Amino acid sequence: MLIVQKYGGSSVANPERVFNVAKRIMAAQAEGNDVVVVLSAQGKTTDGLIAKAKEINPKPSRREMDMLLATGEQQSVALMAMAIAHLGGKAISLNAAQVGITTTQNYSNARIRHINTERIMTELENGNIVLVTGFQGINQFGDLTTLGRGGSDTSAVALAAALDADICEIYTDVDGVFTADPRVVPGARKLDVISYDEMLELASLGAKVLHCRSVELAKKYNVKLIVRNSMSDDKGTEVKEECKMERMLVSGVATDKNVSRISLIGIENVPGKAFEIFRLMAKEKVSVDIILQDVGNAENKQNISFTIGEEDLDIALKALDKNRAHLGFERVEHDETVAKISIVGAGMATNPGIASMFFEALYDAGINIHMISTSEIKITVLVDENDVDEAARAVHDKFKLASVHAE
Ligand code: ADP
Ligand code: ASP
Ligand code: MG
Repeated sequence: MLIVQKYGGSSVANPERVFNVAKRIMAAQAEGNDVVVVLSAQGKTTDGLIAKAKEINPKPSRREMDMLLATGEQQSVALMAMAIAHLGGKAISLNAAQVGITTTQNYSNARIRHINTERIMTELENGNIVLVTGFQGINQFGDLTTLGRGGSDTSAVALAAALDADICEIYTDVDGVFTADPRVVPGARKLDVISYDEMLELASLGAKVLHCRSVELAKKYNVKLIVRNSMSDDKGTEVKEECKMERMLVSGVATDKNVSRISLIGIENVPGKAFEIFRLMAKEKVSVDIILQDVGNAENKQNISFTIGEEDLDIALKALDKNRAHLGFERVEHDETVAKISIVGAGMATNPGIASMFFEALYDAGINIHMISTSEIKITVLVDENDVDEAARAVHDKFKLASVHAE
């Protein structure tokens, strides 16, 4: 078999854990498999590098940030190769340029375009374990790019697809995918299986156990994906197309603290305003999430609020300010102390009671709702950041997600 394994930062945080992972990798090879391993930067290395950059320049360019951040993963693969050699194994480390992982141009949030498999295949044929840097690629200028925070999962799934691997195992610091973040909701339950679609929603709504794009790719290329703990023998969670085992009304709760709200107050109530505002955001490559527009008042003025990622707040505010006269609003308000809480479930569309149960749980917990957004498979509300963990526990409790229950 050809196996792609990915180990996250906490799994390789210190020498002891590096050796733990080295032994797991070598065991997989000893069973007769070809093994390709994707590694993230050790522990909090990426956060540390970001802090280091900010000490020098509070607004560094995205290109230079990628140049800096990509070093974290390079350290991991080199150290792992040394650990495996020390244990008597045979491994080689490769970065994105050496493999040939090409991406789109956009620094800090690039998408993988193509992966050259030649070098990896040659090294496997030579009996090597191949250790590849996660999170990074190279763009058409030959510059290093990164895939967005948590992007090593995507590197692993993309490699599994390109190599036509039999399985892609994502090793992390929890036993698999849970009904909520087990660090926030102590009663969260591990799922044995979850569908690509539900996982995609959970990931895009903030469950950082898998990078959203990795799930998209796994679905597209039908990659057999398993999330497991690098420090236990639990069999983990399988992410796949269909799972008839547990058709839950609500499969999980996700939270996301990386959210800012922008409100444009006193916009003229005429056709085309929403179009102009969101065209501007799109031009600045700012993704907009929840949008709320009110019906307008007697003076023919209205307000539009929307949420974006915190990292885009400066760019969005600057763009709005620059276009103030043209957009014609009275003032802009913004709030970074908000967070999203969402419930996800394929059975939601046909069950009108779900939304009211969700809101009741928040009401019972005394939590105020700022904005609401719904779709067939999810409901999201915006609350104060300080309330969001408690909200997750309350909602998880309300839907009794701790216990298995069929539809
Ligand atoms: P890695 O460094 O291995 O990539 P991450 O920190 O990116 O690990 O992702 C694992 C973390 O995701 C867990 O420690 C957990 O706190 C968090 N998490 C959030 N939601 C979930 C969920 N539904 N199931 C499992 N873990 C979750
Ligand atoms: N090291 C990168 C990050 O911290 C990528 C990853 O961990 O997947 O975001
Ligand atoms: Mg991660």
